[in-house]
Amino acid sequence: MRYVKPHYYDEFQCAADKCPDTCCAGWQIVIDDDTLEKYDKYVQKQADESFAKRLDASVDWEEGCFLQKGARCAMLNNQNLCDLITAKGEGYLCDTCNRYPRHIEEFDGIREYSLSLSCPVAAEMMLKMREQTRYLVEEDEKPDPLEDEFEDFDFMLFTQLEDARDVIFQIVQDRSKSIEQRMAILMEMARQMQACIDEDRLFDMQDVVTDFTKHTERYAKVLNGMDRFRKIKDGFDIYIKLERLREEWSDVLNGTWCELYRDGYEKYKTIYDEFGRFILEKGWDAGNGDAREQQSWEIFLEQILTFFIYTYFCGAVYDDCIYSKIGMSVMSVCYICEFCMYTWFAQEKKLSLDDCIKVSYRYAREIEHSDLNLNDLEQWLMDRL
Ligand code: SF4
Repeated sequence: MRYVKPHYYDEFQCAADKCPDTCCAGWQIVIDDDTLEKYDKYVQKQADESFAKRLDASVDWEEGCFLQKGARCAMLNNQNLCDLITAKGEGYLCDTCNRYPRHIEEFDGIREYSLSLSCPVAAEMMLKMREQTRYLVEEDEKPDPLEDEFEDFDFMLFTQLEDARDVIFQIVQDRSKSIEQRMAILMEMARQMQACIDEDRLFDMQDVVTDFTKHTERYAKVLNGMDRFRKIKDGFDIYIKLERLREEWSDVLNGTWCELYRDGYEKYKTIYDEFGRFILEKGWDAGNGDAREQQSWEIFLEQILTFFIYTYFCGAVYDDCIYSKIGMSVMSVCYICEFCMYTWFAQEKKLSLDDCIKVSYRYAREIEHSDLNLNDLEQWLMDRL
């Protein structure tokens, strides 16, 4: 087996009751079959015990998930602590809670570990980091316990995707180019790779990837102001239509629409230019005049892009949708940028790195934790290829 993880992965520590958010709010937590059976046995056996009654009343036994009370997991108490852990210890958690924010992508003989950007602590670890993200690989001789499930696994495509991802990381982490240029290059690479798949030219994919190790300058074209505005406004439509996991997200979407897009290009341009100057001249917390702030803004965006590419790109082995995997990563960076710009505008033109991290984990919570949203976003991108 091969195991891959980002270099900061093992440093994660849950903030528990000190968490500025809580992972149990807003999501429906699905309970895996083994745990559901364990809970069932416990409830049957200890029927008179008060905690067994509480557990019984907190589980939707038919759907196999925890019930919610006011968009919070029924097991979460007023101190934002999980009563299940308090009463029975961490060993009693279901797989979903046990792992979060750890996320595992499964491929034949390979497990790729990541931390979810939706967790505030994980987001802070990732997005305050100035160094480039590295990936650590370990191997052992153990067979894949899920071997039987990978009978149709397309190893050839996966190898191509892995090679491509290495080149994508080089592009994403090329700090000699602006983040907009890097994203423009990625979108062109995505388009060319997708064409190889759609036209059954899998063997040409290696040539595309090789080409993008050398000749990226010609693709580093950034859209002019008006075209960029049109694209951003067009893409915003899909965010409005997505499922909302938390009501507070509606405030961000509505505010962004009203302040940035509704009144047309001239107003947007004024805000966009001023925000650009704020990032360039004044810095995150306004007023420090540190010339490195532009770079640190770009590094912040680079870390988001790296995260999405690492987590989702190789998943194209299961659906052949390379374009939407890269597109979703690029879109996420673009709209996190837009939501940060709106936040700056709404906070009387003040913005800190912590504000941007908050925007990022709230965005990730809405997008990453709804299969429906991920699918809709990808479908929207594939339809526009
Ligand atoms: S969101 Fe992250 S830090 Fe907060 S309680 Fe959940 S796992 Fe812990």
